[in-house]
Amino acid sequence: MIYLDTSASYPVLPEVREALIAASDLCYANSAASHLLADRVSQNIESVRSVLADMIGSYSSEVVFTSGATESNNIAFKSLLLADGFPPDKNHIVTTSIEHKCVLSICGYLQRRGFSVTYLKPDSNGIISVEKVEAALQTSTAMVSVMHVNNELGTINPIAEIGELCSRRGVLFHSDAAQSFGKIPVDVDDCNCDLLSISAHKIGGPKGVGAIYIRDLRKLELEPVIHGAGQEEGLRGGTVASPLVVGFGEAAKYFPMHYHEFERTRAKDYLLGQLAEVGIAYRVNGGGDSLPNCVSLTLGETDVGSLLRDNESQICLAQGSACSSREIEASHVLTALGLSRDLAGKTLRISFPLNITLTQLDQLIEAIKKASVSNLDRRYL
Ligand SMILES: *Cc1c(COP(=O)(O)O)cnc(C)c1O
Repeated sequence: MIYLDTSASYPVLPEVREALIAASDLCYANSAASHLLADRVSQNIESVRSVLADMIGSYSSEVVFTSGATESNNIAFKSLLLADGFPPDKNHIVTTSIEHKCVLSICGYLQRRGFSVTYLKPDSNGIISVEKVEAALQTSTAMVSVMHVNNELGTINPIAEIGELCSRRGVLFHSDAAQSFGKIPVDVDDCNCDLLSISAHKIGGPKGVGAIYIRDLRKLELEPVIHGAGQEEGLRGGTVASPLVVGFGEAAKYFPMHYHEFERTRAKDYLLGQLAEVGIAYRVNGGGDSLPNCVSLTLGETDVGSLLRDNESQICLAQGSACSSREIEASHVLTALGLSRDLAGKTLRISFPLNITLTQLDQLIEAIKKASVSNLDRRYL
């Protein structure tokens, strides 16, 4: 199987798998209990917390484990904005029309709770500029939320500039870093982030675990999103998923190294170069800075439906994002970029695993060629 959907979920790294098995055997005690085995589990959890904190330049005490980036995003918005002490006149949110579906859905909920939300559109490259954010700020703006890397395009937003603006204007800044953490540097001080969401399974860790960074967590009055027995600073109830946390720690340690190696393979350049050489019409969605292992390709003259159908037993590909690919509607990210429904339907999000081979890339190119062949023939008639 050629797996080209790593932006949806990255295969578990071998180092993570080993750690998960060991942790399932050894970390069975409840970290909140008061005995020796619980203390050991607790130490394991705390050491992962400090690995993550070091990577993002924060204090350990500002990192809370969650079930993934969806929950982290929920906490980022709701625990602050819906807290009892939050100033009622701060009821405006600035976010973007290309966020992950979960952020759009949280903002929809907050709109029903009386907040107003501005959804910024990206420029033609798929990037959210600091100027656009600045123009949207109001005196009532409580929070700005702009994702670091877009999950469909792989494009990188200038969050350091946006964070600097928010800090200057006294507005909270949240960034969904699920697609950037472990791939490119993310530092909460460099980016002036007050809140940052990350997830394990986007970097070869297990599903069901993530984290949220909250600046000065202990000084804030926050409303839990999951009310519980006081775990995770009282913010996130429930027994901490220690084996998953340990797996997350291994992924955070090893993925950046693999990713760094991957950049040298130039898989994206090879794919695009070969497509051009065999005369396939394509357009890359999103420009400027982008991740080396993700590309959004619109194949205007290819029968993308039959490309997917004919190769479904050999190639895993995404049309738009995974969360919306089974829906009939076109990707909200692609339409925000101005693509028609038709062209959005002819768009593939190709996200490479780090061990992709030339042979596999050639197979993909061959499959695209085949699904475009009648059009190519017609052109030469
Ligand atoms: C995958 C993803 C999420 C959701 O993360 P989960 O850990 O699966 O909940 C949120 N935001 C972005 C940008 C993502 O890519």
